[in-house]
Amino acid sequence: MDRANIVIIGGGVIGAAIALEASERWEDVFLLESLPKLGMGASSRNSGVIHSGLYYAPGSLKARLCVPGNRLLYEFAAAHGVPHRRTGKLVVATSQAEIADLEPLTENGRQNGVEGLRIVDRARILQIEPHVEAVAAIEVPSTGIVMAEELVKAYARIASDRGANIVTSARVESIEPIACGLRVRSAAGEIETRVVVNSAGLFADEIAALTGYSRYRIYPVRGEYAEIMRAKSHMLNGLVYPLPRRDGLSLGIHLTRTLWNTVLIGPTARYVADKNDYESGREPVENFVGYARHLLPEIQPSDVTLSYSGIRAKLLPPGTAGHPDWVIECDPQFPAVIHLIGMESPGLTSSLAIARHVIPIIRESLS
Ligand SMILES: Cc1cc2nc3c(=O)[nH]c(=O)nc-3n(C[C@H](O)[C@H](O)[C@H](O)COP(=O)(O)OP(=O)(O)OC[C@H]3O[C@@H](n4cnc5c(N)ncnc54)[C@H](O)[C@@H]3O)c2cc1C
Repeated sequence: MDRANIVIIGGGVIGAAIALEASERWEDVFLLESLPKLGMGASSRNSGVIHSGLYYAPGSLKARLCVPGNRLLYEFAAAHGVPHRRTGKLVVATSQAEIADLEPLTENGRQNGVEGLRIVDRARILQIEPHVEAVAAIEVPSTGIVMAEELVKAYARIASDRGANIVTSARVESIEPIACGLRVRSAAGEIETRVVVNSAGLFADEIAALTGYSRYRIYPVRGEYAEIMRAKSHMLNGLVYPLPRRDGLSLGIHLTRTLWNTVLIGPTARYVADKNDYESGREPVENFVGYARHLLPEIQPSDVTLSYSGIRAKLLPPGTAGHPDWVIECDPQFPAVIHLIGMESPGLTSSLAIARHVIPIIRESLS
């Protein structure tokens, strides 16, 4: 049987970032991932946007970790050759009625420490995005895009170089307390460990239930994408977002110029019953043409094809509205188990800042 100091459950971008940071400080770090490869969950099924920190409630974990996470991610990506681009973004008002919403959102971002925000008029919008139809916008210079799969690989590669054990096809099935810590049983065998970090994304509530902790429930919300073909991608230079939905379900269906030079339209937002259901009942491509035309009127149906989808780990039950924060806390019964639950957007952006936030909690649990 293996002995560990720290077992991290879930090899998405957050688990991999925690493995990276933990392996710099401690020996015997294990990262257990149920699938045959890392990063196949939400971490590679997203918009790849490096968010600025504009939207989140001041003082929330999302706000406190996104702004430094943005900076850390650019630094890491540049230092380790992870493809990325600082594109900047526009959050647009498409009618006179929406203009009033730009100021409070800008003020929210400033309170969170987002730098360089300004409200711009149609002339400036046309300079940045000549094909976009909007009357005013917030210009957000610190937003960008990153190749998420490459980011996960880079975190894991460095963690592994530092001695961390990255184990795939290792679905965790049980966690039980023992005299000197916890025994974690997975499809790859048993490990005795002093600390467990539950970073299982969509399934973090089910991992928490293994220790008897059932305070939180994750509701899967699917986000679907379509893609504008490369030949037409010159219509967009960076990122264009509508104003965020008021119910808190999503930031709205936006346009993202990708690093592979297409334009993503999406993601939509719809509750699904099954956490593994990425495809059934997908929205037709015509819907995406309609969404895109709202911002980019020249788009033609023949320019658009359906693309991938991802599933958000929402703590917001269907039929309710709100902006629940991330949950990062020790298990009330087994304090050596640290749960990360509801780690939806901006989890990719904030991954390194989240990992650095978790390190002192791990240290405390090890002492
Ligand atoms: C549609 C969409 C768009 C998004 N856009 C952005 C964006 O533009 N910018 C941004 O910053 N964030 C974005 N996000 C959020 C971001 O993708 C997530 O916050 C981030 O990927 C969460 O990482 P994670 O490691 O917690 O989860 P995941 O990537 O889901 O990783 C969890 C891992 O745990 C594994 N696992 C589950 N159960 C077990 C088990 N029993 N044993 C072992 N392993 C297990 C899973 O297989 C999975 O690999 C988006 C998310 C979605 C869905």
